[in-house]
Amino acid sequence: MLLHGSCRCQAVKFEITGPIHRFTNCHCPDCRKINGAAFSSNLVVAAAGFKITAGEEMLADYESSPGKFRRFCQTCGAHVYAHINSRPEIVIVRAGLLDDEPGVRPQNHIWVSHKAPWFEITDSLPQFPEAFKG
Ligand SMILES: [Zn+2]
Ligand SMILES: [Zn+2]
Repeated sequence: MLLHGSCRCQAVKFEITGPIHRFTNCHCPDCRKINGAAFSSNLVVAAAGFKITAGEEMLADYESSPGKFRRFCQTCGAHVYAHINSRPEIVIVRAGLLDDEPGVRPQNHIWVSHKAPWFEITDSLPQFPEAFKG
């Protein structure tokens, strides 16, 4: 597997060689506000299979909860990925930044208890009130 991704202004580029552990639509308030959308489609990827290939110096960090850092392109504002200090083996990549077909599809909705009241989930994927359990 080799997937390419980039931010809107193309300053930041990344590659995913996998494995992709999960593909999830997250409705938590952090994802909603940071992405400015009803939810964020997130790929949970092995940190060893994720690499920033351009623009590392353009990334700014926002600590959205203790020990969880969201990384943004400082030019275009795109949220590229998140990493969690207590889980160094994974990164959480924003699927909207992919330039390639990942060959996988969202598997569930998480943090549905916090979803935007104006958004209705119309697919039949499993829904979890908070974080994924399984
Ligand atoms: Zn950018
Ligand atoms: Zn979230």
